[in-house]
Amino acid sequence: MRTDRLIRNALSHALLAALALASNDVLAAKISRLTPPSELFASNNANGPVISRFLQGQRFDLQATVQPDAGLTITDFYFSVDGSTTNPPTIDANYKLSYPLGNRIGRVDESASDASCIDSTSGKTTGKSGCKLVAGLPGNTVVVSQRAYASYQAGVHTLKVVATQSDGSRISAEGNFEIVAPADGYAKAKNIIVFLGDGMGATHRTAARIMAKGYAQGKAKAPLAMDTFPYTSMVMTSSLNSIVTDSAPGMQNYVTGNKAENNQEGVFPDDTLDAFDNPRVEYLSEYLHNLQGKSLGVVTTADVFDATPASMAIHTSARGNGTGIVDQFLDDRAQTGLAVLMGGGRKWFLPNASNSVSPQPVNGSQRRKANDYVLSDDIVNGWGVARGKLDPERDLIADFQGAGYAYAPDNAGLNEAFKHGTPNKLLGLFAYSNMNVSYDKIAARRGDSTVVDAFGFPDQPLLEEMTDKALQVLAKNSNGFVAMIEGASIDKQAHLMDTDRWIHDVIEFDRAIAVAKKFAQNNPDTLVIVTADHECSGAAILGAATASAADLAATPNSGTRYVGTYEAAKFPKYVIAADGYPQSTLVDNKMLIGYGANADRYETWLPNLFPTKDTQQPFPPAQSPSDPSSRNKDVGYFVAGQVPGDQAVHTATDIPLSAYGASAAQFHGVIDNTDVFFKLASAAMGQ
Ligand SMILES: [Zn+2]
Repeated sequence: MRTDRLIRNALSHALLAALALASNDVLAAKISRLTPPSELFASNNANGPVISRFLQGQRFDLQATVQPDAGLTITDFYFSVDGSTTNPPTIDANYKLSYPLGNRIGRVDESASDASCIDSTSGKTTGKSGCKLVAGLPGNTVVVSQRAYASYQAGVHTLKVVATQSDGSRISAEGNFEIVAPADGYAKAKNIIVFLGDGMGATHRTAARIMAKGYAQGKAKAPLAMDTFPYTSMVMTSSLNSIVTDSAPGMQNYVTGNKAENNQEGVFPDDTLDAFDNPRVEYLSEYLHNLQGKSLGVVTTADVFDATPASMAIHTSARGNGTGIVDQFLDDRAQTGLAVLMGGGRKWFLPNASNSVSPQPVNGSQRRKANDYVLSDDIVNGWGVARGKLDPERDLIADFQGAGYAYAPDNAGLNEAFKHGTPNKLLGLFAYSNMNVSYDKIAARRGDSTVVDAFGFPDQPLLEEMTDKALQVLAKNSNGFVAMIEGASIDKQAHLMDTDRWIHDVIEFDRAIAVAKKFAQNNPDTLVIVTADHECSGAAILGAATASAADLAATPNSGTRYVGTYEAAKFPKYVIAADGYPQSTLVDNKMLIGYGANADRYETWLPNLFPTKDTQQPFPPAQSPSDPSSRNKDVGYFVAGQVPGDQAVHTATDIPLSAYGASAAQFHGVIDNTDVFFKLASAAMGQ
């Protein structure tokens, strides 16, 4: 009886509330997105995990997608945090509304019905498609933003957006976010070095240890450099929109403290088509450059536009926007403190006067207007960043040199740049796109330059050499630095299921880690972490071949005949040459790898003479097999894939993280990838 009355009361309250809502706020109208992301907004769950967390003073954009009632428009809006408006509105000549507060401006942004908008370079009205909203939204939908908001008040805050329709009625929605104070009690780290083994799961680490160090009676004869790091975490790697991340959120989650969607870097998702206008979140590099004057170093064996390097400094929702990404590296160096940029990717830096890549320009350039950037006033003014320009004709290497960067085109040039002292800033571009892997670079140094010559870059540095040079440059800044050093092809070769090449690249990666460990021993105010963005390929060490190297080589279609499992695997014995790398990866009792996230392939258990085709190369060598499902087709045995496409894929498996040096003790237990950001920042700002 009493329960019935309570239910009746509750129902009538709900009814009254709905009626009250209907009189003020018309129900058809709605806020379909509120940024930063929250469970409070997405599922109305106030007890769910807080999705978006920021450091005190870390800047981020507030944004909402507002769908008014049919026939109405949005005439006004404001954001409030814990009930206080974030800043007072004024009318701006260029925009319907703007909200200046210091250098922070919000405006009614793109509208779905407004196919034309203001070109932020010329100031003229244009029909460029970047101004439009994604398909499926009502024509009167608008996106409203307040750029570069920050709070110093630690704790969970309620974010509200209120939009006024042209009939005077209002629509509102609530979400939340958390402001986090840095932890103290840890040794302060002036320098932070993040080693990112792309795609490097526990299997990849173990395989490199077995190959590089060897085992005796069940014990590793020596540890990898990364094995000597005293603190370890397991890291959950999911992105904002999937349990399985790609490399963009996989990296940027570590250095923004927030989840991005797959393919997105330094931004939250939005409903506009422009890939450079997304709501931004400040990077660790920007935050610490601004606060402490630290430099940024980005070193990779990939093309420097690739997802991992770009996710240290670039803000875009499309990781493929090569021209705009490399331009932002230089244009926003005053935001990030970029002092070192090294890797492949020269194709984005060479001028392309024709704006065409078909036919491929002879200089290898792939600069194009279609993936360049121009920013709108609210981003330029809110964040104090460069506007950008659609300029495929730009000579970006010359512009880097003009800005004081020494330029190295190859390993000899890299050494040359240090001949008369350590340069203050350094750009190294050692290939058109991704650099060759260590398997092929080492072969060239031992006298077989077949592969690197076919790619056109016979003299590429090893990652340990790039690391040594990068740390010398970065150490010149007495305020310290943030460096990201990536072993990129651990992932790329795992995708291709080219076992020998990815294990070799983990060894190269570990040798670079040894260089940084030595640096940290000499500079104890340095924190070094070694981690991965995600696991790639579901790799597993099956065991080892029961055949000799010669027998294995003679029977590429041996199938499972020579797969020695359990005690039949014994302990494979590789010989390490004086250069630090395996004399050969084809040895008696060769270690054998299987793949749990594989596409179709033909397995021979043998090293592949030529790397499988890299579609990013402007001039891919003709000798490369096109993909793993055609590689060794005539000789290997068929292994059916479990995923579509022709490459192995990333998995959702947690990955190991190792830490060494100042503040390393923060890293223990099972943590989320976004937790790493707050630990790195706490290291930089600790007592
Ligand atoms: Zn990958």
